[in-house]
Amino acid sequence: MVQVEPSGLDAVFALTDDQRERYSRQIQLPDFGEFGQQKLAQSTVLITGVGGLGGTVALYLAAAGVGKLVLARGGTLRLDDLNRQVLMRHDGVGELRVLQAAESLRRFNPDTLVEPIAEYVTADNVAGLVAGATVVVDATHNFEERYWLNDACVQARIPMVESAMDGMEAQLTTILPGTTACLRCRSATPPPWDRRNFGVLGAVSGALACLTALEVIKLITGCGPILSGTLARFDLAELTLRKLPLLRQSDCPCCGALAP
Ligand SMILES: [Zn+2]
Repeated sequence: MVQVEPSGLDAVFALTDDQRERYSRQIQLPDFGEFGQQKLAQSTVLITGVGGLGGTVALYLAAAGVGKLVLARGGTLRLDDLNRQVLMRHDGVGELRVLQAAESLRRFNPDTLVEPIAEYVTADNVAGLVAGATVVVDATHNFEERYWLNDACVQARIPMVESAMDGMEAQLTTILPGTTACLRCRSATPPPWDRRNFGVLGAVSGALACLTALEVIKLITGCGPILSGTLARFDLAELTLRKLPLLRQSDCPCCGALAP
């Protein structure tokens, strides 16, 4: 089963008594155990686009006991963000989103180290953002940022969980550089996108966020099969799921020359 080893995994790392109690209900799961918890505790996850999707991913990864979360998101909170961005506060409108998200996560689980970075992903900062991450979660709403992340993760050989939605449709996959299709295998250049023509319901972004967090936890701990080489497409209106194969392209401008 595919899983990632957190870099610098310390074989003698031991959970504290508080950690054993806090996470006892998941430690008892088959294929998880104390070693799974140790792996989560030694992992760093970069989450980009800390909104209705990424913010809720962060919440469930903090609940699971991921050791460090790096949150990258520019901009200040708007009133129309509050139908889905559950880490925010009503009285925080006009303030930086990522700082409110970090504050909520620290209150929820002081065990998880949270590093907020009040920046959008750019061509200039992306290599620095992904450096040191065990896993990257792409939850941005902007295809340019998604492609920069894709390229940086492929180059650094860091797994990227790719999560996206549109209306009542959601999709999820995991990109393992050199092994599975990357974003440019599917489309060499970012598709056109109108960010204003994009309705979203909080329960839809939240549902996809939980599945995304689960994918990250599986990837790190090995507690279940991941969506490598497979695109899961959910219709949340009809509550149906289709799984589609994603094929790596040997002429991909990003990963075509990358050896497994
Ligand atoms: Zn590719």
